[in-house]
Amino acid sequence: MTRIVILGGGFAAIGVAQRLERTLRPGEAEVTLISRENFSLFTPMLPEVSSGALDTRHIVTPIRAQLRRTHFILADVTALDLNSREITYTHTLTGIAERLRYDQLVITTGASTSTFGLPGVAERVFALKTLEDAAILRNRFMWLLELADDAPEAERKKLLTLVVVGGGFTGVETAGEMVELFHSVGRFYPRVRPGDVRIVLIEGGATLLPGLPVRMGSYAEKFLRGRGVEVLTGDGVRSADDEGIELASGKRIETHTIVWSAGIQPRLLTGSESLPHAKNGAILAAADMSVPGFPGIWACGDCAGIPDGTGKYFPPTAQHAIREAPLLADNLVATMRGGQTRPFRYTSLGMMASLGARKAVAQLPGNRVLTGFLAWFLWRTYYLARLPGLDRKLRVAFDWTLELLFPRDISELRVYTRRAQSSAAADAGLLPRDENL
Ligand SMILES: Cc1cc2nc3c(=O)[nH]c(=O)nc-3n(C[C@H](O)[C@H](O)[C@H](O)COP(=O)(O)OP(=O)(O)OC[C@H]3O[C@@H](n4cnc5c(N)ncnc54)[C@H](O)[C@@H]3O)c2cc1C
Repeated sequence: MTRIVILGGGFAAIGVAQRLERTLRPGEAEVTLISRENFSLFTPMLPEVSSGALDTRHIVTPIRAQLRRTHFILADVTALDLNSREITYTHTLTGIAERLRYDQLVITTGASTSTFGLPGVAERVFALKTLEDAAILRNRFMWLLELADDAPEAERKKLLTLVVVGGGFTGVETAGEMVELFHSVGRFYPRVRPGDVRIVLIEGGATLLPGLPVRMGSYAEKFLRGRGVEVLTGDGVRSADDEGIELASGKRIETHTIVWSAGIQPRLLTGSESLPHAKNGAILAAADMSVPGFPGIWACGDCAGIPDGTGKYFPPTAQHAIREAPLLADNLVATMRGGQTRPFRYTSLGMMASLGARKAVAQLPGNRVLTGFLAWFLWRTYYLARLPGLDRKLRVAFDWTLELLFPRDISELRVYTRRAQSSAAADAGLLPRDENL
């Protein structure tokens, strides 16, 4: 039996595994999927988790619930040995290291946050890439409000100065969601006045939503400014320290909270250095998503550079990963059966960004632009339809309904964070659970 191993648990990995389950004949191959979480994350709704509009668990779907015949291992893949055709993984819960042989390997390890080596930045900023990031950020907002309500005016203003770096769709949505959150819960913090909250959105390009039609960026900028967000375009971050950030223009902003959505980099494995790489570090794949010169190795999603036929690569979006995955699976099976592979071809459907207060911007096929309430309605219906699992769809729809009736929850939770642990262990001076493994 052919041993097919899929690395990752995101849009690309699940798409490949589901298609393989459908196309492989019984006994033809044994499929194993290894991911460091036992769920896949629906990232387009992550900003809403960070603002408390959606509950943390409602935007994740257990991997086991999405697959029927694939063997799942909850582990961190630590190394790849291209000569012996083996991968090494460390089980997430036990910490035990194992090796696994493959005949066909699918790499879909996605991307991680990049802070471009800017001094002081990586250790101070809040990323918004994982579920844990969103939970930590939401908790941070509650924490800031609790402190601010009991602080002298000058300190209160500094505590409530929040900077979002990166005016792409994640940054824009996060800034919009932050405004929604502070509006919704303001009544619980009587000493915090609306003017105390300062949200600054910084974008290095000339307009927000770079790469998308200019009309979308200008609508988003006008709308967010109207909601009180300070939008700084054409400026970037030079460095960060404990008291704030320095911008390329020389401007300084005093803040304790910087949300970073300014860059990603492909997440690569030790041992994959000899694979071909694109300029941005992604694994360079052929148009059929095989890795040239390495038979049996495949890559797609954010960690792969797949040529789009115009000298560029397909962009790292869920929209593309979802479409790349089934074709990769078909090509892999075709190769196993001695058949022909097909190149990946796809024209983007467009992009959407929600701005809060029932407004959004959307790029539609043909480069048409939709703004305002209709775009927001489209955003919600499209992403709700795309969220895997009927139970998750219902939970999210229920969260959205509750949000119309009640203010957002202000409970300051310390669970879900990496350092969360039993208070008995903390009181006994033990290390956080993760470090005890
Ligand atoms: C906040 C946010 C909003 C977004 N909104 C949109 C949107 O509206 N529309 C859109 O099209 N795209 C959006 N994206 C981009 C989209 O999330 C990515 O393009 C998509 O997730 C890529 O899918 P993937 O499967 O390649 O990688 P991922 O979804 O990142 O999955 C990678 C998987 O690999 C696992 N993994 C990584 N390394 C290892 C390892 N060493 N061992 C074991 N497991 C490992 C990870 O845990 C993860 O499960 C958004 C991204 C973010 C962060």
